[in-house]
Amino acid sequence: MIRILAILFSLHLAADLLAADGRSDEGPRIRVAIARGSPALKLKTSSRIYVLEVKTGKKFLLVENAAYDITAAGEDVQVAGQQLSSPIKLLAAEGAERIRLGKNLYKGDILIRAAAGDRLDIIEYLPLEDYLYGVLPVEMSPDWPLEALKTQAVASRTYALRYINPARDYDVTDGVEMQVYNGTSKVNARIIEAVTSTRGEVLKYKGKLITAFFHACCGGHTASAKSAWGEDVTKPLYGVADPFCSPSSHYRWEVYAPAADLLKFIQTRGSTALKIKGVRVHKKDRSGRASTLRFTTDRGVKDAPVTELRKYLGNYEFRSTFITRISPVKGGYEFGGRGWGHGVGMCQEGAKYMALKGRPYKKILRHYYPGAAITDYD
Ligand SMILES: [Zn+2]
Repeated sequence: MIRILAILFSLHLAADLLAADGRSDEGPRIRVAIARGSPALKLKTSSRIYVLEVKTGKKFLLVENAAYDITAAGEDVQVAGQQLSSPIKLLAAEGAERIRLGKNLYKGDILIRAAAGDRLDIIEYLPLEDYLYGVLPVEMSPDWPLEALKTQAVASRTYALRYINPARDYDVTDGVEMQVYNGTSKVNARIIEAVTSTRGEVLKYKGKLITAFFHACCGGHTASAKSAWGEDVTKPLYGVADPFCSPSSHYRWEVYAPAADLLKFIQTRGSTALKIKGVRVHKKDRSGRASTLRFTTDRGVKDAPVTELRKYLGNYEFRSTFITRISPVKGGYEFGGRGWGHGVGMCQEGAKYMALKGRPYKKILRHYYPGAAITDYD
């Protein structure tokens, strides 16, 4: 019971902080988990920073250009030798200044909370538009055409807004499982223009935000969210033909899989086979992506989902499920395919080539998310 109360209390605090800090002129704010269960934190200040003990409202100042160790001890957080009640908040003393944690610079306020096992959870709390300055240069190359960067700004803004949920401790994580975010260190003039010129714009279908998935390259046809993950799918995520990404170096891929690895793979899935005699695509979805492979073996046939084989052999090398060729070669099989990534939503390579052909960002977004309206979030 005490534990539940403690959790509720901390949620309450987060909600209070949210209300206290909501600056209406900045639009919505987002909470990004930049570390979970971290053993310690090295804080380097480039400006003066306030440490705020949330429970008491007690504040003290850290000087600029200094290094501080932050650790957790039970329910407390220790900063510069001071024992403070968790959570604490780091606030840049001057608005435009930033907080450096490890290699990354963070523009927002940082909430630090003691977690189980003397560890720290670190959550950055910042305006959504500032968060996009950090996402854009990692999710898309900053030297790409401006109209392509704008499509990414609208897609990433829409995607992030879908996850804003005050009932949780944070809204999004900073890794590849969502959108990669390493603080706002890499922001440049083009990124700023892409974000500010599309400020507040999102993709909606029938009045609701869509889950604006995106991926590196579709290989000629985007996938439906349904066939990729079994999700219920609306028109914008149903999958479209894409004639634009074919000049991309990611349009085609090839990978060699030793027969021994394929054999181990089907054995982990319950096959008793000792030899593989053949492999072919057994089922395809509407976009042409393979869903099931059929292995012919000395003990009959064995079917397996392609997504599982991709995971087993490595999602980086085995770039998509869009398999176009399986050829027996010495000691194994060569797989040939198209595209890179899950294939759902916007094809980033296609967006780049559309932009190079002079298509404006709204036209590109309408191509990849058909039926979605580009509108303000409120
Ligand atoms: Zn494409």
